[in-house]
Amino acid sequence: MTTDTTVLISGAGIAGPSLAHWLRRFGFVPTVVEQAPGLRDSGGAVDFRGAQVEVLRRMDILAAVQAQQTAMGAQVVIDGDGEPLVNLPSAFFSGEVEIERGDLARILYDLTRDTTEYVFGDSITSLAETTDGVDVTFRHGAPRTFDLVVGADGMHSAVRRLAFGDESRFRQDMGYCFAGFTAPNHLGLDHSGVIYNVPGRGALVSSSRDSSRAGVGFVFAAPESPYARHDQAEQKRIVADAFAGAGWRTDALVELMHDAEDLYFDSLSQIHLDSWSRGRVVLLGDAAWCAGPGGSGTGLAMIGAYVLAGELAAAPGDHRLAFARYEERLRPGAELGQKQAKGAGPFLAPPTERKIRRRNRFYKLLSSRLLAGAFNRLTAGAANSVPVPDYPEPVALVAS
Ligand SMILES: Cc1cc2nc3c(=O)[nH]c(=O)nc-3n(C[C@H](O)[C@H](O)[C@H](O)COP(=O)(O)OP(=O)(O)OC[C@H]3O[C@@H](n4cnc5c(N)ncnc54)[C@H](O)[C@@H]3O)c2cc1C
Repeated sequence: MTTDTTVLISGAGIAGPSLAHWLRRFGFVPTVVEQAPGLRDSGGAVDFRGAQVEVLRRMDILAAVQAQQTAMGAQVVIDGDGEPLVNLPSAFFSGEVEIERGDLARILYDLTRDTTEYVFGDSITSLAETTDGVDVTFRHGAPRTFDLVVGADGMHSAVRRLAFGDESRFRQDMGYCFAGFTAPNHLGLDHSGVIYNVPGRGALVSSSRDSSRAGVGFVFAAPESPYARHDQAEQKRIVADAFAGAGWRTDALVELMHDAEDLYFDSLSQIHLDSWSRGRVVLLGDAAWCAGPGGSGTGLAMIGAYVLAGELAAAPGDHRLAFARYEERLRPGAELGQKQAKGAGPFLAPPTERKIRRRNRFYKLLSSRLLAGAFNRLTAGAANSVPVPDYPEPVALVAS
């Protein structure tokens, strides 16, 4: 069993804290550096199926996740007058267990905060590999040396940029953007959601556990990927422009967005790399294989964290072998997720009226019992595409 190997993890989203948990359990010493000043506990619903649920169980957080699950009911596709067009059973979107991303992020942080060093408000500025470690400099903190470095810092990973090269070499934009935020539940939704489309635009509103709040998602075609990553006012302007004159209650939703403090805005893009590791540096989660909506990003990030830590424990002192085995196990599932998510933009916001009608007909077909079974088998197959292996017995956790 590896004992005192130090591992720097960039990113305290979903993948980072999951990895910190497993590294501690296998006897490593993780440090997490997160550029945000505190935990980013926002985001829409994320769901788990099959092997992904097994990882929650092995982390001993399944009960906590179930206690906070959304228990979402049906979602309804509506027309411009708010009249229902198609009813979608919860199984389409909500998997075996569904939770809001922010609640999951909080569970993972609480699970690890006493046994892992967390550094908020900082980020890595350089990585220099030596024969037996990686020398790391930070925007604010003093330089330090770690045995290994993991980039779990999302689609715009700084670790990937520093160790592998510019993001533009690996990012494939799908021609759509997504904006998500929390708003008062002004539609009075109760464990339910509505989906509204005009060509190239989609608004999704839902409310579950907290009936005073609703999650709002805007998806829209944006061929130039006009994201302004660090300028929230500009992001809100881009969304407001995209939804000007879109009908139904989108004007009111745009007004609510202007008051939102938790806006999450990004292009729908994928990350494709030939290899996820370089020497002592390895990537995990969206940093390595971001797929976009429908690509099992959260479940795969958590399975990936377990497998990465497990392979490191199974190959003491041989990170090259561990990284190779980790990638071998994860890549088929990551590629399947990317394949499934490839058409997410035009599916969520079809570009023409005809394509909206065609998508709605597809939804109707899926609602029939026969096809619902086939759909569930398909999604379960994807969720189980990365089996959850057994590793050396984890050690008991002691607060550091
Ligand atoms: C606030 C937020 C809201 C989200 N909402 C949704 C949603 O509604 N729907 C959806 O499908 N997906 C959403 N996602 C993405 C989703 O969480 C991931 O696709 C998936 O869970 C994989 O997780 P990850 O840990 O790899 O990436 P993420 O969850 O994106 O976590 C990456 C973390 O790294 C941090 N980070 C970024 N750059 C640096 C840096 N240079 N140094 C240090 N830390 C850095 C980020 O602040 C973040 O905390 C959201 C992500 C975030 C951060």
